[in-house]
Amino acid sequence: MLTNKMMRERDLAKIWHPCSQMKDYETLPFIPIKSGKGVYLQDFDNNTYLDAISSWWVNLFGHANPYINEKIKEQLETLEHVIFAGFTHESAILLAERLVKLAPEGLDKVFFADNGSSAIEIALKMSFQYYKNQGEVRDIFISLENSYHGETMGALAVGDVALYKEIYNEILIKTVQAKSPALVDEDEALHSMEELFKTYQNKISAVVIEPLVQCAGSMAMYDASYITRLKALCERYGVFLIADEIAVGFGRTGTMFACEQADVTPDFLCLSKGITGGYLPLSCVLTSDKIYSAFYCDYSEGKSFLDSHSYTGNALACAAANATLDLFEKEHIIENNSVKIDLLNALTQRFYELPNVKEVRQKGMIAAVELDGFAPEKRIGLEIYKYALKHEVLLRPLGNVVYFMPPFVISDTQMQKMTDVAYDAIKRL
Ligand SMILES: *Cc1c(COP(=O)(O)O)cnc(C)c1O
Repeated sequence: MLTNKMMRERDLAKIWHPCSQMKDYETLPFIPIKSGKGVYLQDFDNNTYLDAISSWWVNLFGHANPYINEKIKEQLETLEHVIFAGFTHESAILLAERLVKLAPEGLDKVFFADNGSSAIEIALKMSFQYYKNQGEVRDIFISLENSYHGETMGALAVGDVALYKEIYNEILIKTVQAKSPALVDEDEALHSMEELFKTYQNKISAVVIEPLVQCAGSMAMYDASYITRLKALCERYGVFLIADEIAVGFGRTGTMFACEQADVTPDFLCLSKGITGGYLPLSCVLTSDKIYSAFYCDYSEGKSFLDSHSYTGNALACAAANATLDLFEKEHIIENNSVKIDLLNALTQRFYELPNVKEVRQKGMIAAVELDGFAPEKRIGLEIYKYALKHEVLLRPLGNVVYFMPPFVISDTQMQKMTDVAYDAIKRL
């Protein structure tokens, strides 16, 4: 058995970690995790950490959830994976049927992939090719300021977080950003979108948004009415709407999907993260029969959608996703979460007592506390992260924004603990 110290050394000798300046690990050693149970992660020194960020927003029903474990084991004994071109399997079929049933009316087809960024690429490629198949080239994509859609080149191009994107500017596809309703008022945001629609008329393949919460954009939030009005605008100008619900889907904002709150059916719905309860990589894009039909013809016509990923429709991941949906049904998660959502609200309002708190905001099971008056070079996010770890809570602030996105199995006392530690961390800055 490796000790903590050995693991840190051997890890650093060989592994390049994501979203990190590796040099930072000289002073802030990472934490080898031994096991997980419910909302807790456990290290090798018997410290437990309350996972207040659902391990990068993926976990819904806790670590090592007995039910999901059992369902993956069942799948493991029958079929682990099979090529998904020319072949299929029961778990994928059941999952596709269930997703179509749960998603907004009019999304009838499911295209599987294996991570969120790929789902975005697929939606971008499908919307582009939809027009190309009809002899039209529409080479512009519109997204929102402050948006995040993943790390692959297409997904980066529609994103607007300079920290991740700027370095690659010279090699990205053509996109323009409209004002975000999370940062300016709704009318102004829609006006800015309409101006782009006019400027680039007949050149736009699609608009892509993160409904209700721009999560990586510091948990910036906006009202459902924007989505309703944007969809109407898209229809008026004949532009596809891609809803990136990779982070907000599966109950995070209080409804199964955020688009429901706007009563909107997007042309493409991208899902990932929580889809497997945080167990295995899986993503998918749901779209309409109308769009599907534009690709359906004899192979020789050259209109097929030839995108593929090796692990598309992986059987273990589909089994985990079906188990996740079982839990939503069996435990009436959407209804029962409303009590937790109220508690999270009550617990976070208290942060207004602190002098440096600029805003507290919340959508469903996502709450954020924005701090004010700290210079970026102070890296207060890092200070809060370190303090919280010492007090056995895993928080990972985005700049000056401390947020909570816990697994749905969090108890009232755990929720109290999570917010208390964050409160104290801010108080002592
Ligand atoms: C995480 C995320 C993605 C990218 O998903 P990956 O699986 O990390 O590639 C895309 N969009 C949103 C809104 C996300 O939060």
